[in-house]
Amino acid sequence: MKNPITELVDSIEKKKYSEVIEFKSESDEHAMIELLSQIKDPEIPVLNIVELGILRKAEFIQSVWQITITPTYIGCPAMGLIEMQIKQLLDQYNFNYKIITVISPSWTTNWMTEPAKQKLKQYGIAPPLVQKRIQGLFENPGVVPCPQCNSEHTVLISEFASTACKALYKCKECLEPFDYFKCH
Ligand SMILES: [Zn+2]
Repeated sequence: MKNPITELVDSIEKKKYSEVIEFKSESDEHAMIELLSQIKDPEIPVLNIVELGILRKAEFIQSVWQITITPTYIGCPAMGLIEMQIKQLLDQYNFNYKIITVISPSWTTNWMTEPAKQKLKQYGIAPPLVQKRIQGLFENPGVVPCPQCNSEHTVLISEFASTACKALYKCKECLEPFDYFKCH
């Protein structure tokens, strides 16, 4: 049996970025962002790195593309894979680039776009609730409505779900377990 990471890397390598993006000029930032939006978060395949707010900037400075990314949290294991996918995609187009990882200001769920939160919900993950105050990653967020039936009768099962940035909940109405994307 193959190691799951090796398998994931293999699947990325085999992936073809078939969509051809038209660059009006070498420094077309919109086209670059559109190109990079083909990259999905390996942990949440319905969301791309632009919707998640991981991609902060794509600037063409002195003939070099400077791609600025911010990890969703320090030590997020998905970040290495995301960076690898960016490199693979840009190498395919022979771009001259530099990837800059910025950790300050730190990523917040407020950077996630509204359509992204809706996609998360349709995918069955309760989207992060609007922050009223600064909340710790491991702090109980209060009532998390069920993404399936919208019931507020839900209960926290585990602080950690499939990944550290999600918590596992269970709905007392439809009895379905679900992941909640924690605010931070
Ligand atoms: Zn429910």
